[in-house]
Amino acid sequence: MRRSRAFIPTTKEAPSDATLPSHQFLIRGGFINSQGAGLYNFMPLGKIVLDKIRAIVKEELDKAGCSEVQLSFVTPIGLWERSGRADAMGKEMLRIADRHQNEFVLSPTNEEAMVELVKNRVTSYKDLPLNLYQINTKFRDEARPRYGLLRGREFLMKDGYSFHSSTEDMIREFNLMEVTYKKIFTRLGLNFRVVAADSGAIGGEGSKEFHVLADSGEDTLVVCQSCDYGANIETIDELSNKIEEFKETSYEELQNIAINSKCACGGELSFKKGIEVGHIFQLGDKYSKALEANFNDENGKPKPFEMATFGIGVSRLVASVIEQNHDENGCIWTKATAPYMVNIMISNIKETPQVALAEELYLKLQEAGVSVMLDDRKERFGFKMKDAELIGFPYTVIIGKELENGQVQIFDRKSKENTSVNKDEIYSKIMELI
Ligand code: ATP
Ligand code: MG
Repeated sequence: MRRSRAFIPTTKEAPSDATLPSHQFLIRGGFINSQGAGLYNFMPLGKIVLDKIRAIVKEELDKAGCSEVQLSFVTPIGLWERSGRADAMGKEMLRIADRHQNEFVLSPTNEEAMVELVKNRVTSYKDLPLNLYQINTKFRDEARPRYGLLRGREFLMKDGYSFHSSTEDMIREFNLMEVTYKKIFTRLGLNFRVVAADSGAIGGEGSKEFHVLADSGEDTLVVCQSCDYGANIETIDELSNKIEEFKETSYEELQNIAINSKCACGGELSFKKGIEVGHIFQLGDKYSKALEANFNDENGKPKPFEMATFGIGVSRLVASVIEQNHDENGCIWTKATAPYMVNIMISNIKETPQVALAEELYLKLQEAGVSVMLDDRKERFGFKMKDAELIGFPYTVIIGKELENGQVQIFDRKSKENTSVNKDEIYSKIMELI
């Protein structure tokens, strides 16, 4: 993409309600803009990042044997009444009426709709197991939409639902999804923890959350320093009361509050802040029973499906990457999430040799399938560099004055180091780095 043709409205200032780095930088970098409380537009850069994350989620799920579907975002209220959740969901569930006064809901989650889809279509134990998912818009009228994409009202979620003929098989799938989610978050380049979690309003037993570790996280986790063990403090009553008492205490002070008990492995426990990016639940037959969704077992006897459900906050992940990877100048995208891997900067577009080399490299990288931006704008070098740092391209090739000596520079966004490279070797050097 040529920067002169792109729609990337970067700004110096962030709106006053943007208190977190991801919120500030995603708006300032021209990735997203707000359309009202908890409602966001994705501009071209934001859309590219969102789609990259979405593609990785899909790839890993499909490899694990899941099938993608797309459910209607608007669901009739009757569906929620039959499951008994119409009231339980409270005000987070937004209701609307059509011209005939029929009531509908903007889907905050889709257990009911997915059970209805499978009901009477999957009738035999031979057709099980089945794991269906979608990556689709959700609406939750959150009491306090805030922190940009981290807690929106309209947001993108991957929600998956699996159907089984036995509890053992459901647990097998639950474990498979834990492994699959770990692969997804690892590929995204995130530092995360899997923790035991409260199962909240959805109900059922056996629930784990995936948290991106970041000081700005809304959840407090207890994690072992020696092994994999971790728990959301919501699950530990005693601890959660203790934290409640210390609400006014800073995070650093919280870290210092001694936990009497040690981890089962003998390791020391510590507090960490986390952003919940994924949640997996063992549902059992809660929804299949309520909605009378049965299959016939080996003996021809009807039984309700055993179910599990699996969620990933896809749009929340966009912000989580930045909460974990930024500095005072802007975004530092991981390789898997960067909107463009390489930015080619023409220092002075009046210099024909600079333009010629930049154009040549741009075409060559494009041919090789590298996502590349060409900053061909008639702007000052300092201005363009600031912009590149704010957006956070992993590598910027600077074609400037040094070209007279046959040299160009590669600026590494993460380390902030500039490396000189011979102009004839720049292509192979870039291919090596990415
Ligand atoms: P939270 O405790 O953060 O409100 P939740 O427990 O309500 O999350 P789930 O119902 O498990 O969330 O939804 C699955 C995933 O969707 C969550 O793990 C999270 O990543 C994402 N998610 C939930 N609510 C929001 C929101 N308001 N904005 C963006 N992502 C969200
Ligand atoms: Mg919630």
